[in-house]
Amino acid sequence: MNLDIISIGDELLIGQTLNTNAHWIAAELDKIGFTIRQHTSISDNKEHIVKTLTDALDNSNVVLITGGLGPTNDDLTMPVLNEYFGGKLVVDSDVYKDIERLILGRGFEMNENNKRQALVPDNCKVIRNPNGTAPGMWFERGNKVVAAMPGVPFEMKAMITDSVIPWLKQKYVLPEIVHQMVLIQGLPESKLAEVLTDWENNLPTNIKLAYLPSPGRVKLRLTSKGANRKQVQQGIDEQVEKLTQLIPQYIYSTDNINLEELVGKLLLNKQATLATAESCTGGYIAHLITSISGSSEYFKGSVISYSNEIKINELGVNPTDIETYGAVSQQVVEQMALGVLKKFKVDYAVSTSGVAGPTGGSLEKPVGTVWIAVASKNRVISKQFTFGKLRSVNIERSAVAALGMLREVL
Ligand code: ATP
Ligand code: MG
Repeated sequence: MNLDIISIGDELLIGQTLNTNAHWIAAELDKIGFTIRQHTSISDNKEHIVKTLTDALDNSNVVLITGGLGPTNDDLTMPVLNEYFGGKLVVDSDVYKDIERLILGRGFEMNENNKRQALVPDNCKVIRNPNGTAPGMWFERGNKVVAAMPGVPFEMKAMITDSVIPWLKQKYVLPEIVHQMVLIQGLPESKLAEVLTDWENNLPTNIKLAYLPSPGRVKLRLTSKGANRKQVQQGIDEQVEKLTQLIPQYIYSTDNINLEELVGKLLLNKQATLATAESCTGGYIAHLITSISGSSEYFKGSVISYSNEIKINELGVNPTDIETYGAVSQQVVEQMALGVLKKFKVDYAVSTSGVAGPTGGSLEKPVGTVWIAVASKNRVISKQFTFGKLRSVNIERSAVAALGMLREVL
């Protein structure tokens, strides 16, 4: 069952307003089994609205429109839809009362603009708007539906949740849809695709696969639809099982949780504590860890040891080692981790030291060279990485790699 989303408003096209409506609607309607065929953003322009709507109705069963329902002259959606469906504008007494209640409640008198908003096409079903003055419209043409709502996000959301979704569920038999995420770390996308070639080629045709990469990580999304949720989930579970056997060491979660959340859970399970000593990540790892609610249970703090002075004085790094091996070295990063472990009396410590760039690289240690260590009571492990040229990406990849190493140790 295809669905199109049309977002109307000049402000969307010039980048003044971010189109959060399409994003939200897509996620909600995907959940109930629709196939989102297309998002379109267009200006408040009659010809353009008609052309886009015609194309949408040619290809989809349901078209959801937001924006341009206001009472001002630049808002065209209502008259255009009225003409498109050959209706007549009439005053809807329920809508009039809704508007009156809202306006009087705000301490104003009803003006002409307000009264005009009670005019709706006589051939639509009104979508009541409990939070604003512009009513929505629901048109049916054969087996197809066009619903228009105001652009104001919180008004639109209430109307979709309270009216549009229940009505759509009544009208259509919708399939069950399952999206399963598999979170992978330590294998770049191209390498992963190579390792998974056979598995991917043998996927049942009703399971769709997507690679969603971000710095240092790849999410695999498996999607399947069917009449019976249990069967759909079973089909997906079988494939995830095969995948897990293929690359067990790289999969860190089959729930859609991120590394910092996972690391937090592992620490909680062990009732263990953590600290970080960060040079090139400048506290970013600590930021990720503390973005998880409840992290105070296991996270003690961080030393942002950006300068050699702090590495030496706060973490006890040997100055001779910094001189001999450089601050970006195995010797130094290991001493940083052990230093903060001791200083904060924690069970685990993570440290980073690297050349984030774009300046500061050398022949021996080019931009993107990062050393990461994880220390625990009995041992310290460390690893050298060579990331890219972009500072912000290097910082993010360092943090992801550090959390990944910590996960393995935990
Ligand atoms: P009303 O005029 O009654 O508020 P309307 O349908 O005319 O309703 P718009 O004028 O199009 O709504 O937009 C109202 C507000 O909602 C604006 O601030 C606009 O930036 C915001 N808005 C409109 N469309 C979107 C969208 N797709 N995503 C996020 N915000 C939006
Ligand atoms: Mg508008």
